Amino acid sequence: LQEKALLEAAKDAVTADGKRIQVFANIGGPQDIQPALDNKAEGVGLFRTEFLYLDNQDWPSEDEQYAAYRQVLEAFAPHPVIIRTLDIGGDKELPYAQLPKEENPFLGHRAIRYCLDHPEIFCTQLRALLRASQHGNLWIMLPMIENVAEINKTKQLLEQCKAELDRRNQTYNEDIPLGIMIEVPAAAVIADQLAKEVDFMSIGTNDLTQYTLAADRGNEKVAHLYDAAHPAVLRLIHLACDAAAKQGIPIGMCGELAGDKALTKLLIGLGLDELSMSANSIPQVKQKVRKTDYQVAKEQTEQILTTAIDGQQVRDSLTTK
Ligand code: PEP
Ligand code: MG
Repeated sequence: LQEKALLEAAKDAVTADGKRIQVFANIGGPQDIQPALDNKAEGVGLFRTEFLYLDNQDWPSEDEQYAAYRQVLEAFAPHPVIIRTLDIGGDKELPYAQLPKEENPFLGHRAIRYCLDHPEIFCTQLRALLRASQHGNLWIMLPMIENVAEINKTKQLLEQCKAELDRRNQTYNEDIPLGIMIEVPAAAVIADQLAKEVDFMSIGTNDLTQYTLAADRGNEKVAHLYDAAHPAVLRLIHLACDAAAKQGIPIGMCGELAGDKALTKLLIGLGLDELSMSANSIPQVKQKVRKTDYQVAKEQTEQILTTAIDGQQVRDSLTTK
């Protein structure tokens, strides 16, 4: 059975009517490269770089980071590797950063907010990424974006980092795609404006769900409310997909929902171009993609988005048709 699944995984994921869906892996570091390759990931849709920081006793140096990014890029070249910049704060604590306690850490000084306020930490990572870009197909992704200014500030810092590397005579790829995560409801609502500033977008359903439904992703007491298939979450995803299509940029999904094969048809119907998930979900999701007709999925998705009143109805309508 294992062998059959791997043979299936090796094939491309193309819908019955010919739409190519990229099926990528989420990774947390070089240790996840082999399982992703074994399961025939066509690239990396989310490299959560915070693990490099969480597993360390102190801030990882530019050289340490460069080595880790390079290793991943080389392993997947020429396929894309989307590396997300540091996402700490929220539930991710970093002892040596001595982050002050916050009343509402998930609404607090997290991810891009922290990085923009600590340019020396952010730039160390950006320089490591720029240097590593020569060794593969790097795409840089920013977490927790909620306004255009955050993108513009990051672009300025990237230019400063390039100038620093020029001074050091170190080379980098000039055309690295820059993208953002859509994981805050505000970002989905203004996705048309954000899409104009970036080369790609990727939906983080784990945070998008908790923020949309005001249900902490780690709190068991509200777990019954936390459902990524809730129509409110799906309508926000729909907004972001439409904005990406209008702007002509690719849109993916790297939250847990991307690996839920019961929802693959709906995700294709929403217009997602890429799905990124833990490696062991890849073979089955690819299989599901091949069984799906994009045009049919699109019509059914439109209907579900207007009629379903909760996540259960969404799931039911996908299993009965
Ligand atoms: C998400 O929020 O869906 C996501 C992919 O990011 P993380 O789970 O690392 O917060
Ligand atoms: Mg997130």
